[in-house]
Amino acid sequence: MLKDKLGIIFGVANKRSIAWATAQALHEAGAKLAFAYQGERLKENVESLTKAEMPGSLLLSCDVTKQEEVDETFQRLASEFGRLDFLVHSIAFAPREALEGEYMKVERDAFRTALEISAYSLTQLARGAAPLMTDGGSIVTMTFHGAEKVYQGYNVMGIAKAALESSVRYLASDLGPRNIRVNAISAGPIQTLSARGVAGLSTMLKHHSERAPLKRNIEPREVGNTALFLCSSLSSGITGETIYVDCGYNVMGL
Ligand code: NDP
Repeated sequence: MLKDKLGIIFGVANKRSIAWATAQALHEAGAKLAFAYQGERLKENVESLTKAEMPGSLLLSCDVTKQEEVDETFQRLASEFGRLDFLVHSIAFAPREALEGEYMKVERDAFRTALEISAYSLTQLARGAAPLMTDGGSIVTMTFHGAEKVYQGYNVMGIAKAALESSVRYLASDLGPRNIRVNAISAGPIQTLSARGVAGLSTMLKHHSERAPLKRNIEPREVGNTALFLCSSLSSGITGETIYVDCGYNVMGL
């Protein structure tokens, strides 16, 4: 489905990362991948994951709070790949103290950090990727239902995800004339490194599995498969959307 397609994935921290399940789906569909990870700390993880399953992948260190690293990432992509067909943004961060207790106590710096890393980075990366998407392209990001509804403990990350989902719509409008599509996947809760920072994750997982129409939690690979659909021409008429991959949880009232 993605034979000869070139893509970059931001946000693989370890084998549990949603970005890794996404990489597996894209790789199996025939894509050639680059991985951008945050700094030397994660290099070893990404190297050992890709060495076993995807040898020859391009590995790039990129902290999205450093514009020079973002610029360098796209320069390397330009020289190594020449063009880009898709970009997967699977990055979020908020200081741990902002992910518990009352939302209204969030400090200015924590608010700024959460919005910068979790929302602004999509726009920043879209701007870098667009000139390389000379034959059209697809940009996919990861969001959560906490953008729309209150999840106690999700707090400032909910505000960041609302900004992210709105960014998807504005970017879709900017980039549509170049046949570059931008969409979000709203995933149900999954046990990952980042998710463990949110107070009440185990309650959330239990509640979702009991209330969702499919009566279970999602598997990371189900998000990966949806990302594959969004990166492929099967979704050629879809842009600016937030697609739920949550076993149907969001449709339920009582
Ligand atoms: P992971 O912790 O595996 O992935 C988050 C990634 O973001 C990590 O690789 C992390 O690197 C990276 N990151 C954080 N700050 C920066 C930065 N400054 N520059 C570059 N990368 C950075 O968790 P998930 O796989 O769960 O998260 C992936 C996405 O999915 C996030 O957007 C998350 O909000 C979203 N999501 C997750 C859900 C879940 O329940 N797990 C549900 C719905 C959406 P580092 O480890 O170095 O911080």
